[in-house]
Amino acid sequence: MDRLRDLPAVDDVLRHDAGSALVARFGRAEAAAAIRGAVAEMRAALRAGAAPDLRPAAVAEAADRRLAVRDASGLRPLFNLTGTVLHTNLGRAVLAESAAEAARAAMLEPVALEYDLATGRRGERDDHVAELLRELTGAEAATVVNNNAAAVLLVINTFAAGREAVVSRGELVEIGGSFRMPDIMAQAGARLREVGTTNRTHPRDYRDAFGPETGLVLKIHTSNYRIEGYTAEVEGAELAGLAGAAAIPFCNDLGSGTLVDLSRWGLKKEPTVREAVAEGADLVTFSGDKLLGGPQVGFVVGRRDAVARLNANPMKRALRVDKLRLAALEATLKLYRDPETLAQKLPTLRLLARPAAEIAALAARLRDPVAAILAPAHAVSAEPCRSQIGSGALPVDTIPSAGLAIRPAPGTPPGTDALGRLAAALRALPRPVVGRVTDGALVLDLRCLEDEAGFLSNLRALPPGPAAGPP
Ligand SMILES: *Cc1c(COP(=O)(O)O)cnc(C)c1O
Repeated sequence: MDRLRDLPAVDDVLRHDAGSALVARFGRAEAAAAIRGAVAEMRAALRAGAAPDLRPAAVAEAADRRLAVRDASGLRPLFNLTGTVLHTNLGRAVLAESAAEAARAAMLEPVALEYDLATGRRGERDDHVAELLRELTGAEAATVVNNNAAAVLLVINTFAAGREAVVSRGELVEIGGSFRMPDIMAQAGARLREVGTTNRTHPRDYRDAFGPETGLVLKIHTSNYRIEGYTAEVEGAELAGLAGAAAIPFCNDLGSGTLVDLSRWGLKKEPTVREAVAEGADLVTFSGDKLLGGPQVGFVVGRRDAVARLNANPMKRALRVDKLRLAALEATLKLYRDPETLAQKLPTLRLLARPAAEIAALAARLRDPVAAILAPAHAVSAEPCRSQIGSGALPVDTIPSAGLAIRPAPGTPPGTDALGRLAAALRALPRPVVGRVTDGALVLDLRCLEDEAGFLSNLRALPPGPAAGPP
């Protein structure tokens, strides 16, 4: 108990070099509170019979660990090794360098967001990207809102509030979380008029439903599921004709939507926005942070008069996008002007188009060093696996990839949840590593790993215990 008197005073630690370093980094109040906490911890340890190091440098080090935990951001960069490239819970698209630079500049300096530099008069914020969107989609006009859910909400509210919106029963999708088409309809103030059946909808189903109460016909891309077998749907071009003949506005919600034909990079073809516009839709909605590879925004492109009605809706004001995202978006869209360099500069496409052989070579290189870090508790092998695009795009089509499969070493007692504890330790790293547990293995799909050296040095920070040692 005599050693209790050896506990340093908070002020002594603050005056020590290691303590001053904490003050310089975190401020006096934060540093003092952390040192107080560390001293209290050591007092408790002494009373419990332990013999902690009581020198000021050791106390400062303990305080430093407390401050690091307190200061760590939940939004710090991580390694997405889930195999899902556009992982909604991990922030979807990783943006291009040029997009990040544009957003950074717009953050730090004033920009002509709603100001026309040519005339000195008020401008429109959407104008910064409207011309690019016209160019890339062939549409007459474009508007940008918070996300694609907002785009759909705005379209329904503008054209069908207090009236009916006609949708095929086979397309009443839920896009995960709280985006369910019938709920969006209700929030937009429209009555949902379902037509057809789950597996088959015919032109006459739409025609029979059209009447004086119809405000909008909506076609929704079945992004995250596929109905197979005895099926029939009315394609966009035909539906545009039916709606046009009845003078009813027609909106095609593409969800992911892409500006380029992905088959050029060996991926399966998704409908492009240009095709949907050319089919005759009055409006087409799609996301900015799915296949397009930009910031979170939602687009509505289409006929000039229809887009003008959207912009006149007061709801547009509540759904508008800030300067950061507009700046990042403009830079992202500009990359599409040169399809030759798109796959190098746009991370989403670069990762999706990455050849399986290149990923397999990476897995082979990483196997030994990763096995050495995780031994003896775990065994590591390089194995083929399959990645997903994510965010509902091409849900049934996976792409060949490769990764590291980590399994408990032979002889690990059952019921110790060795993989669960390793997964937790990986998530707690300075740069968290997120994989997926399947069939008794923790699989790290390496498709999205581009910083090989950074990955290994980060992994070396694994504490002994859950990762390396037996329980
Ligand atoms: C993803 C998706 C949405 C919602 O888009 P967010 O960008 O997530 O708001 C709407 N419709 C379809 C068909 C989708 O795939």
